[in-house]
Amino acid sequence: MRQCLTSPEGGYYTTKNQAKDQFGRKGDFITSPEISQVFGELIGIWLYAEWMAQGKVSKGVELVELGPGRGTLMDDMLRTLSTFRQMRASIDSVYLIETSPSLRETQRLLLCGEAPFETVDIGIRSISKYSGIPITWCEDIRFVPKGATKTPFIVAHEFFDALPIHAFQSVPPRPSNSGTTLQTPTGLIPLSNQSPQSKQNQWRELLVSTAPPPNLVVPHAARNLSDTTPDFQLTLAKASNPTSLLLPNRSERYKTLLHRAGSTIEISPESHSYVAQIAQRIGGAPPNSTTLRSQDSSRPLEHKATPSGAALILDYGPSGTVPISTFRGIRSHKVVSPFFAAGQVDLSADVDFTALAEAALHSSSGVEVHGPVEQGTWLEAMGIRTRAEMLCKGLERDEAGRKRVVGAVERLVERGGGGMGKLYKVMAIVPERGGRRPVGFGGEIGG
Ligand code: SAH
Repeated sequence: MRQCLTSPEGGYYTTKNQAKDQFGRKGDFITSPEISQVFGELIGIWLYAEWMAQGKVSKGVELVELGPGRGTLMDDMLRTLSTFRQMRASIDSVYLIETSPSLRETQRLLLCGEAPFETVDIGIRSISKYSGIPITWCEDIRFVPKGATKTPFIVAHEFFDALPIHAFQSVPPRPSNSGTTLQTPTGLIPLSNQSPQSKQNQWRELLVSTAPPPNLVVPHAARNLSDTTPDFQLTLAKASNPTSLLLPNRSERYKTLLHRAGSTIEISPESHSYVAQIAQRIGGAPPNSTTLRSQDSSRPLEHKATPSGAALILDYGPSGTVPISTFRGIRSHKVVSPFFAAGQVDLSADVDFTALAEAALHSSSGVEVHGPVEQGTWLEAMGIRTRAEMLCKGLERDEAGRKRVVGAVERLVERGGGGMGKLYKVMAIVPERGGRRPVGFGGEIGG
C-alpha cells in the first residue's frame, strides 16, 4: 500500500502527470474541501473557537495539515483565519506534511503564488500569500520541530485512510495432533500441543502475493486499464509471524473477533504512531515516555506543563467497530480491486477511529478525545446552513451560483444512502480539561 501510493517511482500520489489528476470530476475522487469552500471555512472557525477557548495565546501557534492534496483546505482555512486579526497574529508557522513533489508544487502555487521554494533542514519552505506566514513542507510530522511553548493546531482530512494497514484473519486451531507452528527467521517451529495457544483461534496475516500466471505484473506505464485482472492477491500466511503475534494483541477490541473464526480485521500501526505524535504535541509526552524516543532518538518531546492546541481528524470509517475487509481501490469515482494497475489506482481503507482514540489517550495523559461524530451532524452544528445562506445573499443575481452552493452543502451533509454526511466522521483531540466539550461536539463557542 505504501509503495503503490507514495513510492518515488510510480507511486499513485508521487508520480507526476499520469494521464489525469487524482482529484476532481475528471480524476478519481472528489473530496469535501473540493466540493465547497464552506468546508474549509468551518474548520477554520473551529480552530478559532479552540484558540479562544484556550485563552487566546498571542504567539507560538502552528497550523499543521497532514496530506493537503491540492491545498484547497489550507487555503480556505488561512483565508478564514486571516479575518480574525488577533489569532492571525499568533500564527508563527504553517507546516504541510506532504510526500508528493507534484502536489507540493500545486499547494505552493495556490498558497504562495509567486514566492519560490527554498530548501531548509527539515524540508522546503515558501511564504504564504496570507500576511507572509512561512509555510514549510515536510515528509513526515516527525520533522516538525517540537516544543513545550508551541500551540499546534493539526488538521487531517482524508489522510489516515491512505496510511498502510495490516490485515489479519482468525484461524481455528488445528486438529490436536497436528500442532501449531510459528514462523521464525530460520523456518517453521512447532509449538507444543500442550501450549494454550494451540487450543485457541490464532490471528494470521493476510499477505500480498502475486496472482498466479499468466497475470504477471505489467510495468505500470504499459498497463491497459480496461484490463482489470488483478496482478496480486491476498494469501493467508501459513503460520503466525511477529506482526500477527503483536499487533492484534495491542487492544482488547480484537479479542472478541478472534473467537469468531474467519473474522478479518485491519490495523494501521502507522496511523497509531501519527496519532501518538499528534497527542504528544498537544498534551505533552508522559514524563518517562519512550514512545517518541524510540522513533526519533535525537529529539525527545519536552514535557508540556500546559497542554495546548487541538487536532481535527476527518475521514471515513466506522464510529466504534473495527474495520473489516475495507481495503479498496478507487478509480474514476468507482470502487475497484486494489490489486490491479499498481500505482495508477488510489488505495484506501476505512479509518478505525476508536483505535486512533485509544492511541491518542495511551500516548499522552494531557489530551482528551471527542467524537467521532458524523460529518453531517458536525457541519450542521458548526453552522453550515447559515454560512451557505450568507454566500447565497452575495449571489443574488446568480441563480446557478446559488444552486451550486446549496447543492454542494447538501452533498456534504447528506446522510441517506451512503451520503458523505454519514460515511465521514469527525474526531477531535484537545487538551485535557475535565470534559468541556469543543464546539461541534456538543459544546458552545465561548472565550
Ligand atoms: N486532504 C486532501 C487530500 C487527500 S488525498 C483533500 O481532502 O482533498 C491524500 C493526501 O495525502 C495527498 O496529498 C497525498 O499526497 C498525501 N499522502 C498520502 N500518504 C502520505 C504519507 N504517507 N505521507 C505524507 N503525505 C501523504
